[in-house]
Amino acid sequence: MIIRAENITKTHRLGEHTVNALKGVSCEVPHGDFLFIVGPSGSGKSSLLYVMGALDEPTSGDIYIGEQRMAALTKKQRDEYRRLQVGFVFQSFNLLRNLNAIDNVLVPFFPQGVSPQLRKDATTLLERMGLGDRLLHRPNQLSGGEQQRVALVRAILKRPAVILADEPTGELDSQSGAEVFRILRELSSEIGSTVVVVTHDTRYIEAGDRILKMQDGQIIGEQTA
Ligand code: ADP
Ligand code: MG
Repeated sequence: MIIRAENITKTHRLGEHTVNALKGVSCEVPHGDFLFIVGPSGSGKSSLLYVMGALDEPTSGDIYIGEQRMAALTKKQRDEYRRLQVGFVFQSFNLLRNLNAIDNVLVPFFPQGVSPQLRKDATTLLERMGLGDRLLHRPNQLSGGEQQRVALVRAILKRPAVILADEPTGELDSQSGAEVFRILRELSSEIGSTVVVVTHDTRYIEAGDRILKMQDGQIIGEQTA
C-alpha cells in the first residue's frame, strides 16, 4: 500500500504559541519499503509519522493511502484504517500497566472478542520473540527490550499493511535495540508490511533501506542506503 504525502503542513498550537512543525512536506512510501525518517530533534519527524498513520490531521495538504485521499474519508473510516491497517510502535512502549504480556498483545481485539486461534497466534509470536516464559508478566516485571518486543507483537498481530515506529529503540541499550530491529525486519517481510521508522539512531540502517532526511519541518534529502 503506497502512502503519499502531498504538500503537508502541520501547525501545532500551544496556548498563544504556534509551531510550524511541517512546512510543506511531500513524499511517497512505496509498498513494502523499509523507510527511515532521520533528522534532529524538533525537525518534524513524529508529526509526519502521526499524520501518515491518521493519529493526527494535517493543517493543510493531503495524505493518500493508495488512491484514497485520507481527508475524503469519514472519521469512522479513518479510525477503521488506523485500527485495521496500521501498527504503531512508540518509544515508551505504551503498554497497559495492569495487564500481563499476552493481554497487552490482545487488548486491541477485546472489543470484537478474542478467538482461541488468535490467542494461540499471539502466544506463538511471543514465544518466537523469546518471551515464552514471560507471558504472564506485567510490564514492570519486564526489561525495556522485553516490553518493546511485546509492543511489537501487539502492533504486528493484526498483520497491518503499514507499521509506523517512533524512536522504537530510543529507550533501549544497543543489544536490545538491534534485537527489536531484527524482529521488525523479519516479521514485516513475512507479512509484507510497509515500515516507516523515525529514529536519530542510524546504526540500524541497512543496505537497500530508504532514508528521508528532515530538518526544520522540511525534507532536505532522500537516498537509498
Ligand atoms: P521530532 O519528532 O523530529 O522531534 P516533532 O514532530 O515532535 O519533531 O515536533 C516538531 C515541532 O513541533 C517541535 O518544535 C515540537 O516542539 C512541536 N510540537 C510537536 N508536537 C506538538 C504539540 N502537540 N503541541 C505543540 N507543539 C508541538
Ligand atoms: Mg519525535
